[in-house]
Amino acid sequence: MSTFQAPKGTYDLIPPESAKYLAVREAIAAPLRNSGYGYIETPGFENVELFARGVGESTDIVTKEMYAFETKGGDQLALRPEGTASVLRAALEANLHKLGNLPVKLWYSGSYYRYERPQKGRYRHFSQVGAEAIGAEDPALDAELIILADQAYRSLGLRNFRILLNSLGDKECRPVYREALQTFLRGLDLDEETLRRADINPLRVLDDKRPDVQKQLTDAPLLRDYLCDACKAYHEEVRQLITAAGVSFEDDPKLVRGLDYYTRTTFEFVHDGLGSQSAVGGGGRYDGLSEMIGGPALPSVGWALGVDRTVLALEAEGVELELPASTSVFAVPLGDEARRVLFTKVTELRKLGIAADFSYGSKGLKGAMKSANRSGARYTIVAGERDLAEGVVQLKDMESGDQRAVGVNEIVAELESKLG
Ligand code: AMP
Repeated sequence: MSTFQAPKGTYDLIPPESAKYLAVREAIAAPLRNSGYGYIETPGFENVELFARGVGESTDIVTKEMYAFETKGGDQLALRPEGTASVLRAALEANLHKLGNLPVKLWYSGSYYRYERPQKGRYRHFSQVGAEAIGAEDPALDAELIILADQAYRSLGLRNFRILLNSLGDKECRPVYREALQTFLRGLDLDEETLRRADINPLRVLDDKRPDVQKQLTDAPLLRDYLCDACKAYHEEVRQLITAAGVSFEDDPKLVRGLDYYTRTTFEFVHDGLGSQSAVGGGGRYDGLSEMIGGPALPSVGWALGVDRTVLALEAEGVELELPASTSVFAVPLGDEARRVLFTKVTELRKLGIAADFSYGSKGLKGAMKSANRSGARYTIVAGERDLAEGVVQLKDMESGDQRAVGVNEIVAELESKLG
């Protein structure tokens, strides 16, 4: 224990558990790479205005949870609380939308920061893999993203998740609904802050998790009943495409999500084994965001899946990922000459792509064999002065316990054929 600990609301990823996080990121990325999405990486911080405008001035993310700071040079920056605004900013800055190949499809993976009240599944530093398809209005694109997320979760072995789907309408029909909802909300018994929220962003009141608020919302008007014909047709097409792909979902007319920029399709992936922090991922269409941050009209859709919560979901379902062995061969030298010879062999094995490790430090045979066991290696090679004098090393199969001598010059080829 040092004097320091990981800051509140954060935790370290350490072996062997950290391997699960890598596997989850990889599993989410694989279907994206396979579907025309290119990898993008943006800075961990941005101009604070980008998030204020992009995510929304009235959202909890911006008003309460953002790590905003002024630099020594006087710039107002914020650690990124989410990925979409940054990715869109970067795409616009690089003029990707002008290359004549829309939609621009991008995926990313990284750390995000929100000053939230920490609890299981809710951290101040967390990790997401996300995807954005920028510059096309096509129900097939919305469907594609939902299908790819479903495929990612299934490839990990997850089963107990549900997809909640809704449409938030567009700039034609949402304002009409917004007013109807506002009128309804003003007639309720709500605290001052909630009433203020009803004025600025009434849809977000539907997201209020408090039971006394939810109870009053049972008869709230639903956006579903206000969708214009274009939005209705679009949503119906998305539903049909996902259904035809064999992906099941639930219509959730109250799903609004915590960010302001969504239009039309919105969805959330929830896992039933996670308690209160049940959302493992979410996303939707954000046709107005580009203009909100000073760009041209670029209808777009995207999602972000939480890596931390996906790992918790795997644990909740008891799924054991098949992780590649971190070490296949472990070398135990006895004496200086053996150390030089086996170190060369380990280097050769590694060059061939075989995961190999070495007993470092001056452990005796017993301690070194313990390390070999702990490494999980399938084979151990042991060599002492006498072995080398005979031109051999001892090859031990750690599963069967069998041990036999193999020529020093043959050992690499022998292991390659056994493990290859
Ligand atoms: P959001 O942008 O809030 O919809 O977040 C997308 C996904 O990121 C969520 O479904 C979670 O899986 C994950 N996520 C968001 N906030 C946190 C947090 N504070 N701690 C851990 N995971 C989070």
